[in-house]
This record gives sequence, structure tokens and C-alpha cells, in this order.
Amino acid sequence: MDITARFLNYIAIDTTSYEKSTSIPSNPNELMLGEMLVKELKSLGLSDARLDDKGIVYAHLDGEGKMEEDGLGFIAHLDTSSDMKGAKIKARLIKNYQDEVIFLDKEEKIKLDPLNFPNLLKVKGDDLLVTDGTTLLGADDKAGIAAIMDMLEYYHDNPAIKHRPIAIAFTPDEEIGRGVDHFDLDKFKAKKAYTVDGGAVDTIEYENFNAAEAKVVVHGSSIHPGDAKGKMINSQLVAMEYNSLLPYVKRPEYTEGYEGFNHLLEIRGTCEETSLTYIIRNHDLHKFNEQKKEFISAKEFIDQKYGQGTIDLEISDTYYNMKELILRHPEMIKEVKEKMALLGLDAKESPIRGGTDGAMLTYKGLPCPNLGAGGFNFHGKFEYLSINQLKKASELLKLLTKID
Ligand SMILES: [Zn+2]
Repeated sequence: MDITARFLNYIAIDTTSYEKSTSIPSNPNELMLGEMLVKELKSLGLSDARLDDKGIVYAHLDGEGKMEEDGLGFIAHLDTSSDMKGAKIKARLIKNYQDEVIFLDKEEKIKLDPLNFPNLLKVKGDDLLVTDGTTLLGADDKAGIAAIMDMLEYYHDNPAIKHRPIAIAFTPDEEIGRGVDHFDLDKFKAKKAYTVDGGAVDTIEYENFNAAEAKVVVHGSSIHPGDAKGKMINSQLVAMEYNSLLPYVKRPEYTEGYEGFNHLLEIRGTCEETSLTYIIRNHDLHKFNEQKKEFISAKEFIDQKYGQGTIDLEISDTYYNMKELILRHPEMIKEVKEKMALLGLDAKESPIRGGTDGAMLTYKGLPCPNLGAGGFNFHGKFEYLSINQLKKASELLKLLTKID
């Protein structure tokens, strides 16, 4: 099947994952896509393909050598972000894109403009799939699934070509951080893998944030405002004071690249009690720990000023940068760069300003750098996919598994 047709089949199923849902997976449509993929995998000769009760698809393709020793895994996720609607996606093909402004909607109000999205200049001459401005596209991460399936089809159609044993997993609910909660390393078998969940096809990612969450509860003292003199402590105002003690420049809106941030996710309060939830992010473990200390210093200051116990602070780590562990497998990066060069790509490394399933899997013992599949502007209506890059992504997977 043509890789574009494959991709369009996958985005026809709305697999938006929902934070508030408690079911596993969070959207039953993820199971629907999972079942569809199991059928396709079986038809491509991966006879053990199955969808488990947690909504994870596992499949294996035997090759030269043993799966446990010589096997290479590829992982992509089934869900799409709830930041933008993922139902009734009407993808439109733009052939041979030059550098023009693309109007997404009929009224021509929503435009994909290289001035706002300079990454468009890097896909000049490519065929692009874009949205109609009312949904996301779903390249994150159905482009990853399509690239993996296209590689498998190639081996199915060319049985004489030798390749490494290949393990596949498609996971649900990556976008809400539950993608690998139930991932079974024994079922996956391979000891090394790549997630195919990135953007530009010439980019390999193996650095992500260290991440923590800080929950701050400010206890005030509520009294009728008419009788408040000398007695009231308005926890909302103290909360604002607490926040003002954190460094201004470490807000997401002032940071990029390797700069970490503290992001105030939510604030809720009354005079009596106010809670603040922050996320703390930094690629560098030392700086990450320093940021956490700033939260503690701010607590100490407020407690001194208003009395011990004014602030309850709880900081818990969420995930860690995989870089350190990936660098113990330098061949995984080297091989990708070599194969990219064979495809005429100038390999780039880029730090992820977020986390990936791969980071968590790496910490579970399965090293997992991330590869791109040609999609850009994820999680919104400006998402688009370069078909040319998607095809190159599939070529890269073939080169990584093929044995000459
Ligand atoms: Zn993704």
C-alpha cells in the first residue's frame, strides 16, 4: 500500500487521548486502531501480532540472529493530542510546495505562512499534507506508525532481503503521559529500540528534560473582612508573593533550547487556602536540582514571614533526561547518523523540550532515542506532514534493519 494512503487510513480514526478519562486506554478508538494494525501486521507476516488488554500492540518479525540479542525495536503511539480536535480530519495535499502562504480554510482566514513557520522553507519542493484549519493532522504520531508499517511491507514484498529481527510496539495515551505505564519489556523482547515520534527526518533526539512537579499549598487565615485588621492572612496574596520569589526569567515564555523553566500550571484559591501547581523542567540535572531548591528557599522565606507551616511544599520527580543512559549505547546514535548520510541527510541532534515515551522506556532498561517522521507544528491546526520526509523516514528504518 502507498505510504500516503496508509497514513490517511490511520488519521481517519479519531484517537484523541483524554487526561480526564480513567479507562485504559483513555479513548476506546485507540483499541479500534490497534486492532486494525494487528490485522495489517499479520497480513505482512508478523503472525504473533496482538493487542493486549492495556491497548498496546506488540509484534515481531524474525530475522538474522536472535531477537533478544540482535533485534531492533520500533515504537510509535496510537493517540493524538487533545489540544486540538482529532475527529473528521480533512487532510489536503499540496503538491510541490514552494514558499507560498497556504490558506487552510475556505474563508482564507487561517494561514500557514513561512513567516510564522520558517520550517516550511525546509520542505520546499515537497508534497505536503495540511489540515482544513479545524483539526490537527495526526502526523504525531500516525506518521511514525505509517513509516514503520511501510518498512515492514518492504520486507514482506522482498523476502530475499536479509534483515535484523524486528520488534514493534504501538502504545496508547502517550500524549497524556501514560504511554508506557503498562509496557511489558518481556513481551517486546528486543533490547534496543527507537521511538518514531519526532519531526524532521534528519534529526535524532536523545536528550529530554528532567521533570518534576511542585505542589504548593498556602494556608491563610480567613476572617470577616470587617474585623480583619491585624488578623487576616489572605492565602491568595501570599501565593502571589510566593510566585514572585521564583526567578522571573525561568518562565517558559522566556526560555528556549537548553534553558529550563518553571511553569505555573494551575492556581486555585480562597482567602483561607490557595494551591499552586508547577512543573519544573531542565535538561541539566544539576540545574534541575537548583531549580527545585529555589522552590524550597521561597517556602522558607514565606514561612519565616508568616509563620511556620504557612506553606506545604511537595516536589516529586516525573521523569529524567535519557541522555546519560543513551550515551552508554553510542552505536545507536552513530548508526543513525551513518544511515542518514547514505540518504543524503545532514544529521542533526536536537534537545527535546519535553519528555518522550522513549525517555521513560530508557529508564526502564530499553534505550530509546527518537527519530522523526516528517511532521511539523504538532498538536494544533497548523500541523503538516512532508510526504517526501515520511518516505525518507521509512527508508531510514530499512537501512537500520537491513543486512547487506
Ligand atoms: Zn508524539
